[in-house]
Amino acid sequence: MQFSRNSNRRLRCSPLAEIYPFPVQFYEQPPTENISLQDFESFAVERLKLLKSIETIGVSYIRASEPYNKKLEIELRKLKFPYRVSSEEKLDDYEIRRKDHISHFILRLAYCQSEELRRWFIQQELDFFRFRFNELLDKQQEFLKHNKLEYQTVFFTDALELVRVRKVFVKDGFAYIPHPEIVIIVLNEFRQRLSKSLAIASRSLPVIQSDERLQPLLNHLSHAYVGQDYSVQKNVGKISLEQIDSLAAKSYPPCMRQLHKALRDNHHLRHGGRMQYGLFLKGIGLTLEQALQFWKSEFIKGKVDPDKFDKLYSYNIRHSFGKEGKRVDYTPFSCMKIIMSNPPSQGDYHGCPFRHSDPELLKQKLQSYKTPSAGISQILDLVKGMHYQLACQKYFELTHNIDEVGFSLSHPNQYFIESQKFLSGSRDVKKESSQPENSQRSQGSQPTRSTSTCASKPTSQAVSADMEGLEELLSEGYTE
Ligand code: SF4
Repeated sequence: MQFSRNSNRRLRCSPLAEIYPFPVQFYEQPPTENISLQDFESFAVERLKLLKSIETIGVSYIRASEPYNKKLEIELRKLKFPYRVSSEEKLDDYEIRRKDHISHFILRLAYCQSEELRRWFIQQELDFFRFRFNELLDKQQEFLKHNKLEYQTVFFTDALELVRVRKVFVKDGFAYIPHPEIVIIVLNEFRQRLSKSLAIASRSLPVIQSDERLQPLLNHLSHAYVGQDYSVQKNVGKISLEQIDSLAAKSYPPCMRQLHKALRDNHHLRHGGRMQYGLFLKGIGLTLEQALQFWKSEFIKGKVDPDKFDKLYSYNIRHSFGKEGKRVDYTPFSCMKIIMSNPPSQGDYHGCPFRHSDPELLKQKLQSYKTPSAGISQILDLVKGMHYQLACQKYFELTHNIDEVGFSLSHPNQYFIESQKFLSGSRDVKKESSQPENSQRSQGSQPTRSTSTCASKPTSQAVSADMEGLEELLSEGYTE
């Protein structure tokens, strides 16, 4: 794939219909056309949104069940990804197949960077493939033939999964498979090929990382939050400092609740905690003056005298509000950013408890938050499967006594806002009988220049601003 700064694109080879005869692909060949950086980013963000939806649906419903298929179909339509052969295919159908192709390869680059990222990517792509392969119906054979996967007989080792559940007839070392079960073999093939391709892609990382246009984008995508930007603070000044303890108990997600408690107990937070919690507080509506007062009043109860606070800490707070240095107006951290970067070490309280706490400690923490015990094991199961945000969603449901949150959690501020909406009765949710104990709502996360116009969509400029700004902040005013 090559990238140009203008948006003109052209196809080098044949017409789209010839390149993309099916709405599902094995992604054997990388795209060879030129695309603009804008398309590069928007295609990747759209696919990331889709994969995140696939993850959520996969945890909430049994894969390939009717409700699962229905939910997934709605998402695919909404995000405009191909999934079904239509009797009269139009140019638009091929255009979305092209987007499918290109976006898959971009995310390969972003998600080949670590074992954890690769595993997550393969799982979502596999689920996406399974759904679409099943949707091919009588075109399956044609699709397999097109991909040179015509199975007459396969070797025993290719069909272990089917042998295990006794769905094959085995003779002379060959496995004879009923046609409806072919999907398992095909999925196995898809997984192996993708896994191998990601390993190959990861070896070319040094080359990719030397491209100054792509590197920030790809890093951003692998930590990406693709929802609303919480930098637009509608509630500025509407929260008083006296309300904070009660809001923490009712509407904070566990990550922020943990930071708030540590601050109240120790009258201090280290740098990572101050960044994570400070930006969250800004996102829920604290003004700069309130933030300075909040942090100062707590720190001077500990070992920091007022003069020291003014010298060492107030600069960083003003900085995070875009009032110092390069005047980057930082937005609160998203879940992905908290989960994927800067893991906490001894003495730190930042991070995501679902990702960074030992399971036994997490269990105790959930008990101390009065999480119903029946739900704690569900949460721990989700954590075990590395579905940290879904575990947090489950915590929201349990602590608000609702059946289904009705939103896809991706940001601590989203958690807070949704909780507040729910507690104030302005949000309609499927609710169980008793009163909620806690609640929450929120989203967000790209840094924006305080003087710029950028708002919700993560653009490459915004990504760069984020990185430059953070680097500046870390190098200029760092105090433990
Ligand atoms: Fe916080 Fe997100 Fe982790 Fe929940 S999933 S605790 S909101 S970082």
